[in-house]
Amino acid sequence: MSSAEFPFIDPPGREQYQPCIKCGLCLDSCPTFQETGEELESPRGRVQLIAAVDRGVVPLSAPKVAATLFSCLDCRACEVACPSGVPIGSLIERGRGQVVAMQRAHRSWRGRAAVGTTTRLALKHLLPNPKRLKQVGRLLAAAQRLGLIKSRARFLAPVGMRRMAEAMPLVPRTLESDTVSSDTPPKARVGVFLGCIMDVLFADANQATIRVLQHNHLGPVVPGGQTCCGALAIHAGERDQARVQARQNIDAFFASDLDYVVTNAGGCGAALMEYPEWLAEDPQYRDKAERFSQKVVDVAVVLEKEGWRAPSRTSPEKITYQASCHLSNVMKAGAAPVRILKSIPGIEFQEMADSARCCGSAGIYNLTHPEMSEALLKRKMADVPDGTETIVTGNPGCWLQMLHGVDAYRPGIRVRHLVQVLDDAYGREALSTPVATGASE
Ligand code: SF4
Ligand code: SF4
Repeated sequence: MSSAEFPFIDPPGREQYQPCIKCGLCLDSCPTFQETGEELESPRGRVQLIAAVDRGVVPLSAPKVAATLFSCLDCRACEVACPSGVPIGSLIERGRGQVVAMQRAHRSWRGRAAVGTTTRLALKHLLPNPKRLKQVGRLLAAAQRLGLIKSRARFLAPVGMRRMAEAMPLVPRTLESDTVSSDTPPKARVGVFLGCIMDVLFADANQATIRVLQHNHLGPVVPGGQTCCGALAIHAGERDQARVQARQNIDAFFASDLDYVVTNAGGCGAALMEYPEWLAEDPQYRDKAERFSQKVVDVAVVLEKEGWRAPSRTSPEKITYQASCHLSNVMKAGAAPVRILKSIPGIEFQEMADSARCCGSAGIYNLTHPEMSEALLKRKMADVPDGTETIVTGNPGCWLQMLHGVDAYRPGIRVRHLVQVLDDAYGREALSTPVATGASE
């Protein structure tokens, strides 16, 4: 329900911020507070600012409201620390939605738009359209192989985009994710969520995910009609757009009778799990969203839950693990990815200090707040243990950020996904004939 102070649909709720007892136990967990020491850059500061707007003390249009809400990384470390269970992430995302709706409603408003027009267009017309995204991916692959991306990167603005272009991985030539048939009946009916960026820049990891699940007799199927999870839209305050995508994904996965919806991307998985919150006021989808979210699980967790076969060996490698904050703080994958890595003979696992602290990627944060993003990345790179040969991570945003990080600060280190390490260790065991899947196009 809206109010005079938050006049648009889907506002932050009083019942959400009232449990905050202002204890400050969340402060030390917050990367933006750690960097600045500013109360308004802390979870408590953000929650109390939202309360102040709701009580009519601070106008929604005050520039500090947009600045404070959008400087949050959405990493959710504060929620884990909060003893009162304040849903800080939801409050901030709902607050952003109000700011964006206000800016849209008052075109004469002269403040800086929270989200640029190009980003808005990409959120609405590119990311939710797998076909268009893959066309862009193919063009990107061709441009990379002709050496055009790096040579032209210096002409790109803003600075965040230039850095990403410089560190971008080679887009795989094959962007199709086929499942394969097997003689062994699967232990569970598993549907794979492909994602948007993941299925273009890191399509190799999606293909490895499918092979690893197959190797462990977990199906899988790739439901057609699925789309981007909507995480980037919700972080940007574009809540209506995010809901359109949530409904499409629910319909796509409910068309197959599945036990699990498996993701290999912490940011996507966290978004899929939060569909009930996004669709709480949609009577048609509220219950479906609840049932859908209960099936969502990270690939490492489903492997442990359903039973998996540890590979007998792999080539010796010193590996550390960068935990995606959404995978840890929202999906609660815990140590499952690390346990799997440690169980592979040949791998020398090296613990990274404060591994779940946000690396500064945070969706498009590295584009909108390049200085804070860079400061956090620099700290993260300093935490990579000496002698590390490979950083394993579980989210495309972190992956891109790690690539930029090793490029800038720790050259020579590889960045990979857990499933790629596992897939290699299985030696790409023979799989039978590919079958059509409906796929993502
Ligand atoms: S830990 Fe929770 S209750 Fe304490 S200040 Fe932070 S948000 Fe408020
Ligand atoms: S989500 Fe992360 S950056 Fe935002 S307030 Fe919480 S800890 Fe700080």
